[in-house]
Amino acid sequence: MRNAFGLMLASVVAAVVIAGVWFWTSSPRADVAAPQTVAARKAEPLPPAAAAKPAPKDDVQVTASLTKPAPAPVAQKPACANPDALGVARTVVIDTTGGPGFGFEHFKQLDFLQDKEVVLTFDDGPWPNNTPAVLKALAEECTKGLFLAVGKHATYHPEILKQVAAAGHTVGTHTWSHVNLNNKKMTEQQVKDEMEKGFSAVKMALGQPPAPFFRFPQLQHNPAAVTYLGTRNVAMFSTDLDSFDFRSSNSEQIINTVMTKVDKLGKGIILMHDFQKLTGEALPTLLKRLKAGGYKVVHMKAKTPFDTLPEYDAMMVKDNKLPTVSSRPVGAVVQTVSE
Ligand SMILES: [Zn+2]
Repeated sequence: MRNAFGLMLASVVAAVVIAGVWFWTSSPRADVAAPQTVAARKAEPLPPAAAAKPAPKDDVQVTASLTKPAPAPVAQKPACANPDALGVARTVVIDTTGGPGFGFEHFKQLDFLQDKEVVLTFDDGPWPNNTPAVLKALAEECTKGLFLAVGKHATYHPEILKQVAAAGHTVGTHTWSHVNLNNKKMTEQQVKDEMEKGFSAVKMALGQPPAPFFRFPQLQHNPAAVTYLGTRNVAMFSTDLDSFDFRSSNSEQIINTVMTKVDKLGKGIILMHDFQKLTGEALPTLLKRLKAGGYKVVHMKAKTPFDTLPEYDAMMVKDNKLPTVSSRPVGAVVQTVSE
């Protein structure tokens, strides 16, 4: 009897346990499923910014901006209001791996321009009035150029350099302070600093890294620096024809110099300076003369942006002592509470 009762009790206990286990395992299934969903969401390959802000534009602004978000992407091909514009005949993308050189004055390996093709390049900017004058002339002819900016100038006038990039032109660099890098008094470290600071300064001004395109000041190629830029995957620009705008006494002289040389060569990378006032004055006529002469503009772009070194980016921020948002006087900010 005791055994039978015990058996019955054991059966009841077993039934309760089985029911309990069934209930425990089956009913909270929704709860078990919930963390799996979260886990699955976490595993989705969305960048954090895209996950936080669903607007697709937002993740563009996250990329490598040093101090400010990158400007919103500009429309690739705005309609050209000028039916007789010089325009852009073709756009080329440059793979800068290993540091290719362009411009036959120094680099004779890459002959990529066809007959009657020219590349418009502008050095030493950005600069008030003069760079905007160049931008205006290029915009009126719906054409594009390559601007090789001086790092210091970029920190003085970042808003002008942003206009250059926003207009769809390519921005490269031209050292930090425009020193002759072939000067034997410069140490290897000083030469490296000039080049890297130039890139980081332009990146800071633009809010995004520039193209890995570089031109040596005064076309003075330091052999060790050429090798270094090769390791940094920077394309180097010499020239095919120098406008000598910086030593011209009037805009006519610049136009005549360029047209005479380009007619002789038949094509080429043209070296000019948006830093120079006369260049902006010469450009509207020069571009019309190029069009009338059957020349076509090739727009050079980089396959990938320049990869700046973090220590130089940090140096730029420190050196430029970025202003804070607050403009309250020190007495309102710092109060002595005990002496
Ligand atoms: Zn220069």
